[in-house]
Amino acid sequence: MTTMSYSALTHLECSRCGTEHKAEQVQGTCSCGSPLLARYDLELVAATTGPASIAARQPDLWRYHELLPVGGEHSVVSLGEGMTPLLPMARIGASLGVPGLMMKDEGLIPTGTFKARGAAVGVSRAAELGVAGIAMPTNGNAGAAWATYAARAGLASLIAMPVAAPAITRAESVAAGAELYLVDGLIGDAAALVSAALADRPGYQDVATLREPYRIEGKKTMGLEIAEQLGWRLPDVIVYPTGGGVGIIGIYKALLELREIGWEPWPDARTVAFGITVPKALGDFLVLDALYATRGTAVAVDDDALLADQREVARLEGCLICPEGAACFTAVRQLRETGWLSPRDTVIVLNTGTGLKYPDTVPAEARVIAPGGTIPRPGRVPQAGGGRG
Ligand SMILES: [Zn+2]
Repeated sequence: MTTMSYSALTHLECSRCGTEHKAEQVQGTCSCGSPLLARYDLELVAATTGPASIAARQPDLWRYHELLPVGGEHSVVSLGEGMTPLLPMARIGASLGVPGLMMKDEGLIPTGTFKARGAAVGVSRAAELGVAGIAMPTNGNAGAAWATYAARAGLASLIAMPVAAPAITRAESVAAGAELYLVDGLIGDAAALVSAALADRPGYQDVATLREPYRIEGKKTMGLEIAEQLGWRLPDVIVYPTGGGVGIIGIYKALLELREIGWEPWPDARTVAFGITVPKALGDFLVLDALYATRGTAVAVDDDALLADQREVARLEGCLICPEGAACFTAVRQLRETGWLSPRDTVIVLNTGTGLKYPDTVPAEARVIAPGGTIPRPGRVPQAGGGRG
């Protein structure tokens, strides 16, 4: 009988030119400049494990270890990430005209954002391959997550982020012992700083978005979890906020692998993506592949609309979500209005992080009452804060 090792990883393959690269050593991008994708022996996975054995495992993303790149359980660097809840969103769903709306809530993961998935898998693999430190430019949350997992792994971390990045992400990075620099510019400026600094830091790996192959593998687990949580099928539509695009590339990769393994009977989910703050993503063509191949679409969402929906989701569902997650609800609203979404569709939106990281996005006005004063009678309470009428 064939026995299965912890990972079924076989090699890396260039996403553009197809060249094979060894997975046993530290790798960046292909010589053609494109991202590398991890490839697995999927026949072996199909022959040696299945949904029933996975169901008996720990409720974290390492339950899919055959489809992850880490070679042994002893190399796993974990803070308990993964298996976030898939919540029915009945009230906001009814209000948007999509009663089958659900939300995968990544706000409950370590570090408070989905970035922990890529960091957990990327850092685990980097440490396993003998990297001394990780270095990256970031818009904030990814840097905080990678610094946190680097600390957990005993690795050094060098992080550069725009001054405008959320302040809490600076605090998280510093608390985790990162060497942190702020740049009065955009993430591209931070990237230039990091690239230049790497020349003087042997043993450090550049882990910027899609510059190493394993962050995608961590993000992929969102797709695997969605399939498992729906009983190994997929929703009609997945709505995902795209920055560097790693999440949607990863989810799409999960769907392709599940189809090949044969665990997933209806691999026909459409995907919806929209840009957040990355002007030119290295994996643009991979995001477009995922959208075209799934008959998906991309929409633009404006800030005022998404902030209104952030408050609406909190008011109707009790979920304080991040602005990117709120943008997914605004996208659903727009796609229902144009008829692209039907009322019969099962739709999953990805909330990529907790709203607690963005306290300034929610106005919190309340009356101050002096000690000994009284609370107004019902019906005479002045309205505080926003909301849609
Ligand atoms: Zn190539």
